[in-house]
Amino acid sequence: MSDLSQGISKEQEIAELDKKYYIHPTTVPKTFVEQGPKLVFAEGNGMNVKDVNGDTYIDGVSMLWNVNLGHGNQELAKAAYDQMTNIAYSSSFYGFSNERAVRLAEKIVSLAPGDLNAVYFTSGGSEANETAFKLARFYWSLKGQDKKRKIISVSNGYHGATSAAGTATGIDAFHSFAGSEDTNILNAKAHLTNCEAGDRNDPNYEGSIRDIIEKEGPENVAAVIVEPVQGAGGIHISPDGYLKAVRDLCDEHNVLLISDEVICGFGRTGKMFGVDNWDVVPDFMSLAKGITSGYTQLGGVLMSQEIRDTLVEYDKILGHGFTYSGHPTACAIGLKNLEILERDGLVQNAKNMEVEMKRGFEYLEDKHPHVTKTRALGLLAGFELQQDPSTNTPFDDSVGAAGIVDDECFKRNLILRTADFEKGVNILAIAPPLIVNKEDIDKIFNIIDEALTAFEKKIK
Ligand code: PMP
Repeated sequence: MSDLSQGISKEQEIAELDKKYYIHPTTVPKTFVEQGPKLVFAEGNGMNVKDVNGDTYIDGVSMLWNVNLGHGNQELAKAAYDQMTNIAYSSSFYGFSNERAVRLAEKIVSLAPGDLNAVYFTSGGSEANETAFKLARFYWSLKGQDKKRKIISVSNGYHGATSAAGTATGIDAFHSFAGSEDTNILNAKAHLTNCEAGDRNDPNYEGSIRDIIEKEGPENVAAVIVEPVQGAGGIHISPDGYLKAVRDLCDEHNVLLISDEVICGFGRTGKMFGVDNWDVVPDFMSLAKGITSGYTQLGGVLMSQEIRDTLVEYDKILGHGFTYSGHPTACAIGLKNLEILERDGLVQNAKNMEVEMKRGFEYLEDKHPHVTKTRALGLLAGFELQQDPSTNTPFDDSVGAAGIVDDECFKRNLILRTADFEKGVNILAIAPPLIVNKEDIDKIFNIIDEALTAFEKKIK
């Protein structure tokens, strides 16, 4: 017990220790040390979480869009316990293996589209994307095309926080954090809508993926990375035809396509994988989050048969490995998680609940004048706030519109998140656990409704 514990509540004690010792990720450090934690989580059950004071909140974003089976799942806990009491951890280096990793790889392949037939495991999404970038370059080297090194990502994409994945992230704060940019990663200005640019005469050509590939020279480009639905960058759902156009563009220029499925994978969008919404098969798929519903860290990269077959011809050590690649306990949780996902029909539930979310959005748009651009694919949903949607006029950034609504929801015990890294854009994201039902969605939308009313009063 620390000396701070004398005469103060547990919440205060944790807050003081937190401010002193714990540096938080993706948090404003100065504000944090001034104000301390917003909430200290203590328990979770289904859709709900409790803080150290015993107050209950609805988890409207599945924490970081990862707790897909909801909180407090006993079956996942038991899978972890069973594996840990057999062998908690074992190495996958130097020829060693374990049954859980093998079975999980087989299971993921069985769910994946097309010929995505082999898996490399990582500890999370950033490592998955790093791995996809490296394996894409390695593949081209093995094919005698050493110059193919560059990776192209699109604006508003989020791909992680390590050096290469951070550079691929088209959100300023991450893209150039601490000068760690990887010069082989090129961020296309391309928004989802102008990636289909046909040729130089197309008004959308400038800055499009096509433009970047052609400027850099396809002989220098290893891969393009996209999210089927951009999450952190603002819940931007790929327009119909977009992913297919990117796939065709990659084929035309002999460039590999990486689909970042870290959020979309395992049912979030109402299909097993995001690309399944448009029947596109990438060359790599990055996975994490929903693979274990966040019950422990795990990620992976699915790769095509062609890439796998090329890789396994290599007769020296593969100089890329993480201590926790193929972690048996993580893989045991992953296997149980996927078993429950299928057994309980949760991918279909995500699709069914999309309808309820859209109904909720219709209600909000009718009632609240600033609500606009509502969208949902499965249980990945968002809406925007504008000063005047009829003229597409944004709120001034000084208003902090999305932040106010987010706070008003929080005051009413609903956790959402803003996705407003872009200037002049105010987006709120909703992504509840895939176990959500109609009553839960009604509750969520009732709270947002009240929060919007409070927001309107505040800005009057
Ligand atoms: N890709 C996407 C689409 C993500 O949303 C995230 C995490 N939010 C990542 C990659 C990085 O994953 P991790 O935080 O597990 O490294």
